[in-house]
Amino acid sequence: MHERTRAEWRATRQRAAVLRALHACDTFVSAQALHAALTADGVTVGLTTVYRTLRLLVAGGHVDVVRDGDGERLYRPRPDDGHRHYVVCRECGLSLAVDSEEVERWVARIARDIGFHAVDHTVELTGVCERCRPDVPAGRGAHR
Ligand SMILES: [Zn+2]
Ligand SMILES: [Zn+2]
Repeated sequence: MHERTRAEWRATRQRAAVLRALHACDTFVSAQALHAALTADGVTVGLTTVYRTLRLLVAGGHVDVVRDGDGERLYRPRPDDGHRHYVVCRECGLSLAVDSEEVERWVARIARDIGFHAVDHTVELTGVCERCRPDVPAGRGAHR
């Protein structure tokens, strides 16, 4: 019992440290970058633990996750007022929150229609941001 309590306490502390480090970053970060930040902060935690903790935080709805152009997962704390969806630049990793009201309404309607509860969803939007976009001749798609 004692051992278990100690393990739990350690897990709680590591979880808090990971969350704190996440909040300190202002953008999406990889598990490796987070691990490096924790280590630089003097927090002794293994990369495996960081990965496991992030998975738990994602499952618990505390953290949003996106994938960059190479398929690597990037994490960011979820705001208190609910989850967000982001579009991530494949070139530089810039992330912007996007309006997803339509998606939320659609998911709610589907859930209602099929009689499912606790329907979760993942939306991944990637693109190339304004800064990274090579100059294209006028009239070819995106406007300035
Ligand atoms: Zn970019
Ligand atoms: Zn959503």
